[in-house]
Formats: sequence, structure tokens, C-alpha cells
Amino acid sequence: MPVPKLEHLEWDTPMYRLAVEQLDGIAERIGLDENIWCRLRAPQRAHVVSFPFRRDDYSTVETVYGYRVQHLTTMGPTKGGIRYDCGVNLGEVTALAIWMSWKCAIMGLPFGGAKGGVRIDPNQLTRTELQRITRRYTSEIIDVIGPDRDIPAPDLGTDMQVMAWIMDTYSQQRGHAVPGVVTGKPVEIGGSLGREEATGRGVITCALEACRHLGIQFADSRVIIQGYGNVGATAAHIAVELGAQVVGISDFSTGIYDSRGLDLKRVDEWIAEHRFLEGYSEGDEVSNPELLTMPCDILIPAAIQNQIHERNADALHCKILVEGANGPTSMEADRILADRGVTVIPDILANAGGVTVSYFEWVQAAQQFMWTEDEVNQRLISLMQRAYRDVLEVAEREHVDLRTAALMRAVIRIREAKRRRGIFP
Ligand code: NAD
Repeated sequence: MPVPKLEHLEWDTPMYRLAVEQLDGIAERIGLDENIWCRLRAPQRAHVVSFPFRRDDYSTVETVYGYRVQHLTTMGPTKGGIRYDCGVNLGEVTALAIWMSWKCAIMGLPFGGAKGGVRIDPNQLTRTELQRITRRYTSEIIDVIGPDRDIPAPDLGTDMQVMAWIMDTYSQQRGHAVPGVVTGKPVEIGGSLGREEATGRGVITCALEACRHLGIQFADSRVIIQGYGNVGATAAHIAVELGAQVVGISDFSTGIYDSRGLDLKRVDEWIAEHRFLEGYSEGDEVSNPELLTMPCDILIPAAIQNQIHERNADALHCKILVEGANGPTSMEADRILADRGVTVIPDILANAGGVTVSYFEWVQAAQQFMWTEDEVNQRLISLMQRAYRDVLEVAEREHVDLRTAALMRAVIRIREAKRRRGIFP
């Protein structure tokens, strides 16, 4: 059977196309069996839910849409974050679930990819509204999640508090505490030390490996980070601890740039008081698109997808692009950056630190045994370094860029697992 045309698929969106085009780009190179190729392009299971949501004023009731996609159940339970954003749709969640499968395979974790999302703007909701939406969404997907089935985690617009509400809702229905149903939850209810910082720490571990390979001094480098949330802010702080200068940051409200380096302590104080960067008076105010093209050595997109494309890839100044966000770079931009000699560390490697420590958290829940923060961080760093070197080894052997190499490693691993398991019935 030929590989189907994308426009015939219900979940066809620009982000889904990016995920599929990346897969298609390596399928022939590795001689991927056509049936496995077709299967990997589609979700194994997709759940679409809609439910009523009552605002705090108690008179407005809106209908909200939510999704949970499980891409691949071959490798173990499925694993992936839950995103709250107004752009969430079935195609976006499917693309993110596909990338989760590749990430888990690159890191050697016993999971397939999943992702969930609710189409809302979390910035417009009160805490009580956020809690109500979270509990109702959880109850809508309760039959498809579980510690041995599918384990959510935080993503864009969600955090450890949201995970705590999911864990509580699930546990109430089961009649006992089930900490293993989510990862990225607070330490008080079974979360892992080091999980909150894990994605940012993994991003910087990859940047350090790239610097070592390219002969660049990380400690002398200038770093720009788009998106000062969980991933971006952690990466910024670790970069500064290691001696680099963070010269630019942004959130959805605005960006700031200061060639002398930003004072992150003052930034954090401002955000703690005002929630967003807008109005921060130090440095120059720049827009999000401008920030990406300001002078730096290392650029870390850590906000949303589709930020670096054919229209701005030529204007980037960085030597290394580390994808903290999922899907920030288009295929055309990849080609332009490769021609310009910019090293791109792909999302499926660069931001895999989060799912890696989520795996540690899940293991700790199963064993009912807690690791120290130092143990978590050291194991994370050593797994990230090993994954980086494995991917680099493929890239050098096959004369391909890091994204192609990472995809090749991931898909070959999954193909072997699928062949071993065979076809039911
Ligand atoms: P977050 O919600 O904590 O932070 C997101 C940041 O991006 C915020 O500063 C927000 O203001 C900013 N932002 C949102 N929309 C924007 C826009 N349109 N333009 C510019 N900035 C915008 O989210 P996060 O958990 O840090 O996730 C960020 C990215 O990293 C996402 O792409 C996510 O999928 C990816 N990621 C997160 C994790 C994790 O463990 N949290 C793991 C892997 C990948």
C-alpha cells in the first residue's frame, strides 16, 4: 500500500506536516518498511473531547476542546506532556506525540510518544478556572491514562500544580493515591527532585557538548533565549551559573536585549510581581522576531513552534541553535542554517531532558524510593551526554546534520522493536 497523501488525513496541519516531512526525509535513507512508515505517520489512538467549562462569574459556560493522542504503544506505556494554548488542535498534538516517540527512543526510555492539550488561553484564566478545566479534562481522558498506560507531564501553559490536580482527580476516582499517573508533579506528592529544571538542564548539557565539539568556550558565550518559562528560565540560570552571558530573553508579551548581559535576579523579581516581562525597564525592548536576529553565539528558542523559517533563517547570528521548544525550525530554515554552518541541535535531542527525568520520577514512584537531587542531575547529564555523542557519531558516519542523525537513530530503534513484536493477529 502506498504511503497516503497528507491532505486525506483528518489531523493534517502545518505542524503535523513538519513532523511527517522530517520522518519522510529519513525513511528512504534507512530503507524503512512501507507499513511501518505508514504507521509511524499516524497516531495509534486519538481522543478528542469537548466539555462545558463554567467561568468564576458562575453565569458564563463555554465549550472547551481537549485532545490526547497516543502515537506508539510498541515500546511500553505512552508518555508526553499536556499543553494549554489557544492554538492546540489535533494536528499539533499529533505532531508533538510523534516527536515524543522519537525523543524516548533516542534516550532509550521504555515509552512510546503521547501528547495532550486543551484549546484555551491559560493567561486569561484565574487559578480556580484553571483547576476546574484541569479536573474536567482529566475526567474526560481518565480511561486512557494511567501509570502503566499513558503518563502525562507538564508542557507549554501547564506546570506542577496542574499535574497535582490531575493526580488528585485520577486518585479520587481510583480510591487511593496513584502518584505514577503523572510526572512533573510537586515533590510533596511524589514528584522527583530536579524534574522542574530537567528540560532546561538538558538543553544546556547539549549546548556544552556542541561547544566542546566545535571548540567554542561556553563560559565566554552570549546566549539569547526566546520564552522565559519553565524551559527558558531554567536554561538561562544554568547558563549564567556556568559563566555565559544571557544577553536576550522574551516571553509572549515582549523581549529585552542587553549586550552587557541581563541581571536575571532582577528579571525574576519583576516577573514575580508583574507576571510578564512587559514594562521591564533595563536593556532595550525588542519584539520576539527581532530578538532571534540579535547578536549572540547560542540561540535557544524555548517558547512555541514555527519561529525560525525561510524568511529569517538568513538573519540569525548564532553559531549554535539549541531547540528547547518543540518544532521551532522549518525544513527550509534547516537547509539555510546548514548551508551557513550553524549547528542545529534538534528538539528531539535538546529538550529530551524533561522526559528523561520524568522517567526517573516514574521509576521512583514504582519503586517507592526517592533519589537525591544530585543523583537525578548526574544521571540526567550522563544520559544526555551519551545521547548527544551517539547522535553525533551517526551524523559524522552518515554525513548528515544532527536532526537527520537523531531521527535515524530513533526510527531504527522503533523499527527493530516493531519487527520483534510482529503483527497482531
Ligand atoms: P511555559 O509555559 O513554562 O513557558 C513558555 C514561555 O514562552 C513563556 O515565557 C511564554 O510567555 C512564552 N510564550 C508563549 N507564547 C509565546 C509566543 N507566541 N511568542 C513568544 N513567547 C511565547 O512552557 P515550557 O514548559 O517552558 O515549554 C516551552 C517549550 O518547550 C514548548 O515548546 C514545549 O513544548 C517545550 N518543552 C517543554 C518541556 C517541559 O518539560 N516543560 C519539555 C520538552 C519540551
